[in-house]
Amino acid sequence: MQAQIATSLSTITHLACSTCGQEYAHDVLQRVSPCCNMPLLARYALNGSFSKTALKGREGTMWRYQEVLPLLDESNKVSLGEGLTPLMELQNLGAAYGFENLILKDEGQNPTGSFKARGLSMAISKALEVGVEGCIIPTAGNAGVAMAAYCAKANLPAVVVMPRHTPKAFKEECYWYGAQVHLLDGLINDCAAEVRRLNQGEALLDVSTLKEPYRLEGKKTMGYEIAEQLEWQLPDVILYPAGGGTGLIGIWKAFQEMTALGWLPKDIKLPRMVAVQAHNCRPVVDTFLGLQKNSQQYNGLPTLANGLAVPRPLGEPLMLEVLEQSGGTAISITEEEMVEGVRELSRKEGLFVAPEGAAVWMAARHLLKKGWLQAHERVLLLNTGSGQKYLDNIEGRY
Ligand SMILES: *Cc1c(COP(=O)(O)O)cnc(C)c1O
Ligand SMILES: [Zn+2]
Repeated sequence: MQAQIATSLSTITHLACSTCGQEYAHDVLQRVSPCCNMPLLARYALNGSFSKTALKGREGTMWRYQEVLPLLDESNKVSLGEGLTPLMELQNLGAAYGFENLILKDEGQNPTGSFKARGLSMAISKALEVGVEGCIIPTAGNAGVAMAAYCAKANLPAVVVMPRHTPKAFKEECYWYGAQVHLLDGLINDCAAEVRRLNQGEALLDVSTLKEPYRLEGKKTMGYEIAEQLEWQLPDVILYPAGGGTGLIGIWKAFQEMTALGWLPKDIKLPRMVAVQAHNCRPVVDTFLGLQKNSQQYNGLPTLANGLAVPRPLGEPLMLEVLEQSGGTAISITEEEMVEGVRELSRKEGLFVAPEGAAVWMAARHLLKKGWLQAHERVLLLNTGSGQKYLDNIEGRY
């Protein structure tokens, strides 16, 4: 008897090297592009057959955009209910600082407490689809927790490598999900080196940021949601806390795809995209400002915003492209300012955000003061995680 294959509606056609455009098959295991050792980008048949009216009545998760997601067989979907997080107006802070139209998308409400759930739900689903034996990841915290959770759901072994200084809550949650956890002294790039050492035979799939093509596809759903939730009127500016950069690159990819699908007016002015980094680790800011050619030799320090401690992001060229194409900018925020941001968002808006999200709010304040932002502009802040796992970093500083 023929096995029943629950096919999905995916319109994926191939993967393309982000540097030279060389095309690769999407239905076999892929990592980075063999031609340039750079990220692979999923490409779809965006010919207008996917209409936004098809979204009506679909499930309230990121999987509502299945035509522009890479999963081929619905039965491989590994979901914990990620996506479709709320957008809310920040009336109190807006009024206090003179923003007339300030909104926040709260990604802290995702499963496992961060937007990493989107990327890992997608990557682990695809890992299952191509038949891997297990997954391994270098992480600053949230990505490891998300990978461990989705691997638990998928019955796949999980190996997580994180800095020893990561707050306890991240480590503890990984243990609860049954992951094997390795701790080491250093930042995520040191963890990446340890992953290469542990996984020399490549028995496990390394789901490092942009070293496989599908976490980006999960993250890009934030762009689709922002458009859908704002009834296809995009914000003027989007501020994003950039570590490896998948959110920044993914949201911009979503805007390009929606333009191709005819979901956005042809003459639409796309949002100016802002990369917010920690003063302690600001490789993209320094390159953007012309202080270095690229971040390949950059050394960073740890930061309260663990997710921003990424000194040498593989996706830097793609991030810079987004900043340039969108007319955006890059800015860094001090440790002190992040604590002030957590305090303000908690007290004035009832949102206990991750320091990464607080950095984004503080960046908006700076950019308004500098005149880079206008008071009347619609400004969207991405809070990428919940503050609850960061207590070791900020405890008592309310
Ligand atoms: C990982 C992380 C980031 C950075 O995300 P990238 O995709 O690496 O740019 C920002 N905020 C939080 C809370 C994170 O966990
Ligand atoms: Zn190439």
